[in-house]
Amino acid sequence: MTQTPWQNLSALLANRPPLTRFAPSPTGHLHLGHIASALYVWSIAKAVQGEVLLRIEDHDRGRCHKIFEEGIFDDLYWLGFIHEDPKVRESADSSPSHPHIMRQSEREDRYREVLNDLWNRSLVYACDCSRKAIFERSDWKNSTELIYDGHCRHRQLKPEPNRGLRLKIDSKPIRFFDAKQGWQEQNPAEQCGDFLIRERNGYWTYNFAVTVDDSDQGINLIVRGEDLLHATARQLYLRELLKNPNPVVFFHHPLIKDSTGEKKLSKIDQAESLKTMRWNGKSPQTLIGEVMFLLGLNASADRPLTLDEACHNLIIPSP
Ligand SMILES: [Zn+2]
Repeated sequence: MTQTPWQNLSALLANRPPLTRFAPSPTGHLHLGHIASALYVWSIAKAVQGEVLLRIEDHDRGRCHKIFEEGIFDDLYWLGFIHEDPKVRESADSSPSHPHIMRQSEREDRYREVLNDLWNRSLVYACDCSRKAIFERSDWKNSTELIYDGHCRHRQLKPEPNRGLRLKIDSKPIRFFDAKQGWQEQNPAEQCGDFLIRERNGYWTYNFAVTVDDSDQGINLIVRGEDLLHATARQLYLRELLKNPNPVVFFHHPLIKDSTGEKKLSKIDQAESLKTMRWNGKSPQTLIGEVMFLLGLNASADRPLTLDEACHNLIIPSP
């Protein structure tokens, strides 16, 4: 990354100060992939004199646990991304949520408010189709994603338990600027069709929760892994319905792959957690050096790097 992607940032953001976020899900301990993501978020924020907000994406309550959330704060503090000891901070602030941290699990009322508004505008409908039923009706072979066929659009089902809620979308191409990947164009109607904003099990979907949160928090610079690039237009579609006129710019960063080099490193593959690596005596600089090596931005995996050095290398890669 050179300075080029950021040259027009101010104009692209309509002169608003850049505001980004780091938004992990507490479904497990952090691993090297999260450090890579955090490095991108903080180094870009630093490069553009922006601010980073923290958000806990615990919309999927079946998989999220408080113990993992505590571990996330502890790891971020240990690595040097946040400068307050989370334990000290929690004890100094007796309110249920720290003011600087947004938790999706505490935003049920807000999500309902948005849902009611969309429902009253006839933009949402209930759907009782299982994934299996949609799969069987679809021509799966010709698409990378399962496309919902609009089966329940006109059935006027009541929004009862065990029914999902879908957004009624029009077919239209959506353009957006990605500072890493360049200008992009996606049409959600062709990618996935009317998408879910609430699952059949009653949980809000990632696309819905994250869009409402980004909009409410005034986030205008979204830095996240390139595995989410495909979902960007559907979030922008929803953002427009929230009547948020403020522009947003994206940066979808490369991911650290697993040992096969094929797949994104994830908790499912039992990527070694930061907690274990810390337990084994690794220092923050060792881990940051290792992550930068995996991103191709450090000459050796054994060369430790400070957070400042890593941020510098991410923004101005050596020739
Ligand atoms: Zn349906």
